[in-house]
Amino acid sequence: MQTRTTKICLIGLTVVCLSAFSPRFLMGDVKNVILMIGDGAGYNHWIAASMYQGRWDAESSQSTQVYDGDDWIEVGCSTHPLNLSDTPQKTDVQDRQLIYAPARAWDRQTGYDWLNRMFTDSAAAGTALATGVKTYNNAINWSDLDRPILPTIAHIAAQSGRSAGVVASVQWSHATPAAMGGARAAKRSDYEAIANQMIRDGILDVIMGAGHPDFDDDGRPVTNEPTHRYVGGKETWEAIEAARATPDGTYHGLRPVSTNAEFQSLLSGKTPRRVLGTAQVARTLQYARKGGSDDKNPYDTPRLTNVPTLAQMTQGALNVLGQNPRGLWLMVEGGAIDWAGHGNQGARLIEEQIEFVEAIEAVVQWIEANSDWDETLLILTADHETGLVWGPDSAEEEHRFQPIVDQGAGQMPLLRFHSKEHTNSLVPVFARGRGAQWFVELADRTDPVRGPYLDNTDVFHVMARAVSGPVAAPAEASR
Ligand SMILES: [Zn+2]
Repeated sequence: MQTRTTKICLIGLTVVCLSAFSPRFLMGDVKNVILMIGDGAGYNHWIAASMYQGRWDAESSQSTQVYDGDDWIEVGCSTHPLNLSDTPQKTDVQDRQLIYAPARAWDRQTGYDWLNRMFTDSAAAGTALATGVKTYNNAINWSDLDRPILPTIAHIAAQSGRSAGVVASVQWSHATPAAMGGARAAKRSDYEAIANQMIRDGILDVIMGAGHPDFDDDGRPVTNEPTHRYVGGKETWEAIEAARATPDGTYHGLRPVSTNAEFQSLLSGKTPRRVLGTAQVARTLQYARKGGSDDKNPYDTPRLTNVPTLAQMTQGALNVLGQNPRGLWLMVEGGAIDWAGHGNQGARLIEEQIEFVEAIEAVVQWIEANSDWDETLLILTADHETGLVWGPDSAEEEHRFQPIVDQGAGQMPLLRFHSKEHTNSLVPVFARGRGAQWFVELADRTDPVRGPYLDNTDVFHVMARAVSGPVAAPAEASR
């Protein structure tokens, strides 16, 4: 490949000189990178929502979503952790059995069992996606050598001059946004410390999610003692709320937002440069509202109206981060797809996946209105599968791995859960835009059902390659 190399020194950054290449596409010149993680969303979670939405083509056995079509590449992704311990330095040779093996996974007699016993948690998976390093279950960017793993993709993006952000439909200090947001902790449950790192590190320009201390899962004011750990503890939270009450007030440079109106104000026009958004609901935007175990169909229990949708949060985040002419890196998590999988709640699973698909649609719209696919890379994936979802008769040995059954738009597809936990199943990766082809190059393993696949650590390597250099100087980059 013929290249002309231009060295651009970054002034005022601790980073050494990095190379930008033009006019051809090489390392570092993907202006915007957006990673969207459906937590727990295996293949059949994506398919179930598509069927319910009437976006399923029976003839081709394919969905007709915004992420389908010739412009998109699709590969599989393995998600296994380094080991099944929840503390460092417990790896032994047995853990090699964790590595995804198609022959074990698709065995009619033992496949479900193997997939069920060997799985990552969201912390180890988030670490693999954020740093390219496998670690033990429970670790937030923390190694099996009992040390922090740095840099994370958020750090690399920020050092390149891009803006960085994380958005989640669960508490913003939960495992996935914590790992993707660059926090470091030996235990994912150290929410208070994790939240403070995310706020104080100066890496993140947008942090958004649930976890509000003063509201319950139905968005009503709490009557008992509030829980402050998801937002950094009582002292941090009081400082956040004091800054929010002050016109243009900030906390560690972040403008706090909280009410639905405050979130809506970010959707268009001028915004603060950096934002910390905590929606007025406890654990999740919608999933944990009442009715979860009783609902037969999606939306049997009306959705909460006092909180933004994940799509609105995402659009607001892009509007804030997109002010930076040097580009952005953003992670968006559909965080409660996993929770519905744990609960074996088919209706909520579909609701949460649709919430996530609508956020994907918002990102595609933003790219096409404010950027284009020649300078932006959009990646959709999951951190692992949850619930081992297959068709209605899939418990019987002769019907193992039976596809789920479409019942038409607005009807629950027929499906069955085989687990209340995560599984070691492959998950899909969809990608479009500048650099998407890298996923095809890296997918050098083959699954007999899913086709070419790569590992979750490869997702980090693609993103790191994409943002490791500066984009063209702002004057050249501006459109
Ligand atoms: Zn997860």
